[in-house]
Amino acid sequence: MKPIIAANWKMNKTVGESVLFVERLSNEFAKTDDKDIIIAPPFTALHPVAAVLKGPTLHLSAQNMHWDEKGAYTGEISAGMLIDVGCEYVIIGHSERRNLFAERDEYINQKIKTAFKMNLKPIFCIGETLDERNLEKTFEILRRQIKKGLNNILSDDIRRIVFAYEPVWAIGTGKTATAQQAEEVHRYIRKVIIDLFGEKAGANIRIIYGGSVNQKNMGSLMNQPDINGALVGGASLDFESFAKIINF
Ligand code: PEP
Repeated sequence: MKPIIAANWKMNKTVGESVLFVERLSNEFAKTDDKDIIIAPPFTALHPVAAVLKGPTLHLSAQNMHWDEKGAYTGEISAGMLIDVGCEYVIIGHSERRNLFAERDEYINQKIKTAFKMNLKPIFCIGETLDERNLEKTFEILRRQIKKGLNNILSDDIRRIVFAYEPVWAIGTGKTATAQQAEEVHRYIRKVIIDLFGEKAGANIRIIYGGSVNQKNMGSLMNQPDINGALVGGASLDFESFAKIINF
């Protein structure tokens, strides 16, 4: 399975900074064919970044989208608009969207369906809070997020989803799940997908880990059999640091 290294830049970088970064990335990694590198810049930089992304290894993602195809939603962005500017992926259900913008599992499910309809590949984020982990509810929470987020999704479509396990307590905190903690949860996520959608669906999905990934912990995370890549926030903003993560 080809690993995915995805950069989520959140609300950082101007158009100029984004383009410079991606031009450099295109020059250094255009010929790398054993990894998929996904860049999720802010909305304002999607179109200019699409123009400088080169090679089959580099892919463009948005950080969010609306669930409806068009309409009176001031300040929102549709899946069709993302396709129009060259996106291939879209992050759906990031914990910052769930917690700061009250995104519920039902909205996330609608977004995934709309993404499929418009031919965008969802990067579907799931993860427990620290309280939920301390109460030993991690598996229960993940099963609920997967079941509700993927309600009425066809088994054949599951392979188009990238699953991102992002424990909320590890995002932007400097606390990474240990490789063993992450592996245990990734194995569980695969099991839930097998239970709900069958053996083939579970075997083919890529499950990536996110939460304070950096150049030091990337290697041990990637040594685990069920960790198929990383979603990187803070450490993807600096070129040298992100390049080292890609070259883990
Ligand atoms: C994220 O927000 O997706 C993330 C993983 O952030 P960080 O790497 O900064 O923890």
